[in-house]
Amino acid sequence: MEKMVRTVVADEGKVSHPALFAAPLTVYPKAVNGPARMFKWAVLVLCLAVYYLLPWLRWDRGPGRVSQAVLLDLPHRRFYLFNLELWPQDIYVLAGVLILSAVGLFLVTSLAGRVWCGYACPQTVWTDLFMWIERRVEGDRNEHMRRDKGPLTAGKVWRKVIKHTIWFAIAFWTGGAFIMYFVDAPTFTLQFWLGQAATEAYVFTFLFTATTYLLAGWAREQVCTFMCPWPRFQASMLDEQSLIVTYQGWRGEPRGHRKVDAGKPNGAVATAGLGNCIDCLACVHVCPTGIDIRDGVQLECINCGLCVDACNEMMVKTHQPKWLITWDTLAGQKAKAEGRHVPFRFFRPRTLIYAGAMTVGIAVLVTAMATRAQIDLAVQHDRAPLFVKLRDGSIRNGYTVKISNKTQAAAEFVLALRGLDAGAMELADRSGAPASSLVLPVDADNIGTFRVLAFGRPDAAADGSQKIDFVLRNTTTGEQTRYTSVFMGPGAGGS
Ligand code: SF4
Ligand code: SF4
Repeated sequence: MEKMVRTVVADEGKVSHPALFAAPLTVYPKAVNGPARMFKWAVLVLCLAVYYLLPWLRWDRGPGRVSQAVLLDLPHRRFYLFNLELWPQDIYVLAGVLILSAVGLFLVTSLAGRVWCGYACPQTVWTDLFMWIERRVEGDRNEHMRRDKGPLTAGKVWRKVIKHTIWFAIAFWTGGAFIMYFVDAPTFTLQFWLGQAATEAYVFTFLFTATTYLLAGWAREQVCTFMCPWPRFQASMLDEQSLIVTYQGWRGEPRGHRKVDAGKPNGAVATAGLGNCIDCLACVHVCPTGIDIRDGVQLECINCGLCVDACNEMMVKTHQPKWLITWDTLAGQKAKAEGRHVPFRFFRPRTLIYAGAMTVGIAVLVTAMATRAQIDLAVQHDRAPLFVKLRDGSIRNGYTVKISNKTQAAAEFVLALRGLDAGAMELADRSGAPASSLVLPVDADNIGTFRVLAFGRPDAAADGSQKIDFVLRNTTTGEQTRYTSVFMGPGAGGS
């Protein structure tokens, strides 16, 4: 460090400062085959299929409503997830799901390191897809590097143009697919190409297109290393018992190149005085973040296991035991270096805490969902006038009553007043004598708003106001709820 920041006195006597910024090296990951790579492809295909196809999945929600299985309908303030319909009041469900996802991520990280980063994070998935396209167009690592270092030729230009065109097309498809989670997908697609979609739709499609193109095509591993906060605090979830991709230094060192052992069959290598690592750098060349796993646990490592596949291939070629790079715990490696064996411990204080928190969280969420009310009542007292004294001496208060009918059928609701002696109500915009209760119709999956006038005797509010309850009952389902409000009056001796 001291060496890095020390100023340098040049020959001419001028003081120059060494650059504190090092431009990132371009990473050219080599293609590799093996179980980790196959699993990574499988996760990639699954994630992309779900992302691109989900908005097109239809789900019958009845006439006049969008038949889309997953839809965040912001104008109508609804979130549809297959059979589940969430209202703004149900926001706690989304908050609960997010908290559970975070705790789940903590649990997975404490068990198996950054597997989320290595396999399922959107940045990883799209970067992997873009790299695959790059390899198809520009060739694998060596060919690509050679061409990049060479002169500008027609072949180099057309390859770059094709690659960026495909990248941009995928980014555009990705941006458009994101918008489809907020609108009816078929309608939006048609309107988009006819130039009839909302301006915001075009703006956000462009925004997400640009973001995907830049992050997956250009920024790549820089996002994981410098932009994402997760690597910084994931270290607090790891311990000596977490399963991570590890180079077995006790077995591989001293590393070194070697020759084929003429005395052994099938091209086996001479190993005299050397460990299993033949220093071929295959593990480094396939690494999407460009690091050398042999340097130990590093922040940049996303636990993807591609170096495991690459090294296994080399071990097979050199007739040495596989899994020189493997998934193991630091405790396991320490024990193996000493000739011992320690089993993997699933149950540890931190994993038990995370698993316990998840279990409790899931139970609370499921209970809350199962007992979720299908009606909701909100009552707002008029701000002015607070009350009106009528000619017959009675007091009148005005309220705005909102009834949410979350069921899929139109319903009639009975609204009753409790806590006001001889209290009565009537709708402000309808004629008729005041009654102790009102029958109010509300359409399916809708909110009914009513202006309600309540009447009471002046001696009923001794201190100027008293608590009253509005009780609401769905006449079809019998479900009931109540809302506590106030009835204002002049009070004893008031006028
Ligand atoms: S070191 Fe290995 S596991 Fe880590 S990111 Fe590189 S290839 Fe993946
Ligand atoms: S791939 Fe295996 S043998 Fe080759 S350098 Fe890496 S650890 Fe050593």
